[in-house]
Amino acid sequence: MSVSSLAGSVGLVIGVANKRSIAWAIARGAGARQARLVLTYQNDRLAENVRELAGQLTEPVVLPCDVTDDDQIDALFAAIDERFGRLDFLVHGAAYADQDSLKRPYVETTREGFLKALDISAYSLVALARRAAPLMEKAGGGSIVTLSYLGSQRVFPNYNVMGVAKAALECSVRYLASELGPSNIRVNAVSAGPIKTLAASGIAGFSSILQTYRDRAPLRRTVDTDEVADAALFLLGPEGRAVTGEVLLVDGGYHIMGL
Ligand code: NAD
Repeated sequence: MSVSSLAGSVGLVIGVANKRSIAWAIARGAGARQARLVLTYQNDRLAENVRELAGQLTEPVVLPCDVTDDDQIDALFAAIDERFGRLDFLVHGAAYADQDSLKRPYVETTREGFLKALDISAYSLVALARRAAPLMEKAGGGSIVTLSYLGSQRVFPNYNVMGVAKAALECSVRYLASELGPSNIRVNAVSAGPIKTLAASGIAGFSSILQTYRDRAPLRRTVDTDEVADAALFLLGPEGRAVTGEVLLVDGGYHIMGL
């Protein structure tokens, strides 16, 4: 891949919490490919982290966005429109489920816990895509990439409501891809193998999931955030121009195994 394949394009990256975030690896890769980037932070607690990381990029724009807040989402896209007048790509890396939902049996998931996980982890893609689409149309098209996990299709201990949210997210990818395709806007997901990040630290027994991948994946190892980012960058850039509605597994091949 040419390292300048995103030159001149404008990208919005949601989901950077710290240097271990998958979204940060994607932002760094996009920055290296000369994209102009808007990074968001979820709340004041994370703002400093994101600003500090963004300092490694060229002329980054850093703005707040809690994806449960429609006013903040509207303000974010208004700011992008004012500053750039277009958007070429969107990276969606926000996900959340409360601790109870990830620790107690799935059958005990509360209505509140279910709605919160689905709101932040799945609906937010729809809310963001709706605002991104007009700005991408101004650019002649665009590419949206979200991040998923195999727990959308298979049962992993303690993944629980997050698996259900990822199933909704992947299905949303297909519906959005179908509707936005005529505007030359592509929508895809990268389904990453397990990586120790802030979000992963909420999953009890995560270390044993990592070990299972090392033991069973065809490549006999786990993956890192740069490897996930490379796949995302392929989908974001011109090399992925004919791919939409896809869930690309980047997991060392773990998902093909029966046992
Ligand atoms: P992370 O904790 O670095 O990223 C999760 C992000 O979600 C954080 O930046 C957090 O601020 C953001 N977020 C949570 N609630 C939000 C809200 N209300 N508004 C805005 N942002 C909010 O962890 P990560 O592992 O890099 O996760 C990124 C994505 O990758 C998630 O969708 C996650 O499910 C997915 N993923 C992770 C793994 C893994 O093993 N780490 C595997 C497959 C998929």
